[in-house]
Amino acid sequence: MSPSRRLPRTLGPVVGRRGAIGVDIGGSKVLAVLVGPDGKVGASVKLATPADAEGVVEAVLDAADQVRPPGRAGQALPLGVGTPGMIDREGTAQYCPNLHCLDGVPFRRRLEEHRRGLRAHVVNDATAACWAEHVMGAGRGADNMVMATLGTGIGGGAVIGGSLLEGAHGFAGEMGHMVVEVGGPPCPCGKRGCWERFASGSGLGRLGREAALAGELPAAVAMAGGDPEAVKGEHVTELALAGDKAALAVMANFAWWVALGLANLANLLDPSVVVVGGGLVESHAVLMGPLRESFAELAEAPGARSVRILPAELGERAGAVGAALLAAAGA
Ligand SMILES: [Zn+2]
Repeated sequence: MSPSRRLPRTLGPVVGRRGAIGVDIGGSKVLAVLVGPDGKVGASVKLATPADAEGVVEAVLDAADQVRPPGRAGQALPLGVGTPGMIDREGTAQYCPNLHCLDGVPFRRRLEEHRRGLRAHVVNDATAACWAEHVMGAGRGADNMVMATLGTGIGGGAVIGGSLLEGAHGFAGEMGHMVVEVGGPPCPCGKRGCWERFASGSGLGRLGREAALAGELPAAVAMAGGDPEAVKGEHVTELALAGDKAALAVMANFAWWVALGLANLANLLDPSVVVVGGGLVESHAVLMGPLRESFAELAEAPGARSVRILPAELGERAGAVGAALLAAAGA
């Protein structure tokens, strides 16, 4: 494989003549989708994520079989798999902090050993989601885009000059571990002050608890059963969407941290579009406004004025769809 790939963006050649199957492995669910040759996303299925590597391999193949069309044509479809963590170019999971059972597992090889003739492609889940948003989501038509997926942590990817950025080892896009506060809160990666400690769903929960402990978020404390230490990001989001002023202030603080990382990325990569995905996109009605304001302050002008910041469009299926598109393209 070359360090970066320029893949055709028209859906026909991207999905191939037959289509492809994509599977996204999450911490709790394995999600499979069938992407047809016209780019339409067809059948999908969700299975629980097993706790051991062999179980995960079997669940991926099982989920793929459940969306696979019958007959020999279905058997021949390429399989793309989006996996959390650092996945190298051979499809080996070198480091999976959110799914440790896959650490060091040569995942692509295991899948192909289980099924004779199977052609599999394994890629980081957020990188796959970025490619899907570029081909058929919020980043359509943007040859230079960055996507940040705000979930429990932060994943992401970038398309530069129409090509998916992979890096020397396949690890490009680990933006959640950019340090934004030296000596800041500890991160599961072993370092301190990483961006995802502030700008992910768990980061929002932490900012909410800080406000609650300072007596600034009584409604969230009530939702958490009276314990400020039990305040979660979901409480802040729900209250902010309902117009609670204190929760909106926490959300604006959170948006500043999100904007800080995005501004650093925009200064580095000069994208025309930044796509924000992940579970927190459901709160885009209260997030995107303060996010765009803070981004305009933090990013270097004049780039800051021309970057569009958009919520992702493909939802939870983005990773599976992107993995299917990459597999179909023979990546
Ligand atoms: Zn980290």
